[in-house]
Amino acid sequence: MESTLRQAAERGELILQYQPKYDLGTRQLVGVEALVRWNHPTLGLVPPARFIPLAEETGLIGMVGEWVFRAACAQARRWREAGCRMQVSINVSARQFREPDLANRMLAIMAEIGVDAAGIELELTESVFMEDATRAVSTLERLKAAGVRIAIDDFGTGYSSLSYLQRLPLDVLKIDQSFIQNLSEGPDNAAIVKAVIHMARSLGIEVVAEGVETERHANYLGAWGCTYGQGFFFGRPMAAEDVIARSATAH
Ligand code: C2E
Ligand code: MG
Ligand code: MG
Repeated sequence: MESTLRQAAERGELILQYQPKYDLGTRQLVGVEALVRWNHPTLGLVPPARFIPLAEETGLIGMVGEWVFRAACAQARRWREAGCRMQVSINVSARQFREPDLANRMLAIMAEIGVDAAGIELELTESVFMEDATRAVSTLERLKAAGVRIAIDDFGTGYSSLSYLQRLPLDVLKIDQSFIQNLSEGPDNAAIVKAVIHMARSLGIEVVAEGVETERHANYLGAWGCTYGQGFFFGRPMAAEDVIARSATAH
């Protein structure tokens, strides 16, 4: 798998799907998250959980991550040319984030493609900050100064720490889908979700709920002050061509 992953990008086997993100109040499409898949000749569509960890271990993540970033920026530009204003979020894994000179390389790609930095958002998990937080913060500040937005992904799981909310130049917090999916299982999850929404908003950070699967959950989250939602209720990851049709109507 390692040797074929190496060639996958060159052979055009990596593809991006885009999952819509909605405003919970207006129910309008506001952006998409790019999610990579490997269209393998014999294995079929391989999900990222099956090859991103491999790419991280083998050092191929630099190549895969750069392919994803370039492809998502190119798509952002095509949408803009079609008159469709949308935030495009791109996942960056911990090891990819430690690639030397990452900020400058991303800025150079955006300039080359001609995409507005303000339309691009990077999604990072807290593992990015665990080894060298000082360096991570300076990389983020450089990107943020150029207009790129910064989101913390899967918040509330793993080692996410409240101190990150203070130290990092964050624009967006994404509440992990496990909290949303367990909302029906009793008042404790609701209490945690409400507290996280309140805390983020008090810090001036936008909140996205991940894994919104039902209309009921979308309604609750909106009423609790969560600004955006993403999940199967609004739409599964889809081909870029299918996104435009959605931008015209509310959900
Ligand atoms: P993530 O960034 O937290 O992305 C959300 C994942 O949850 C996606 O899985 C998405 O399809 C799934 N999801 C969205 N809404 C729902 C829902 O309502 N219910 C359920 N059950 N699941 C939902 P996917 O595409 O398999 O991606 C898994 C993870 O792989 C992502 O988690 C992200 O950490 C990583 N990943 C995906 N694309 C990339 C990429 O281009 N680069 C890097 N470094 N990592 C990526
Ligand atoms: Mg993400
Ligand atoms: Mg997530």
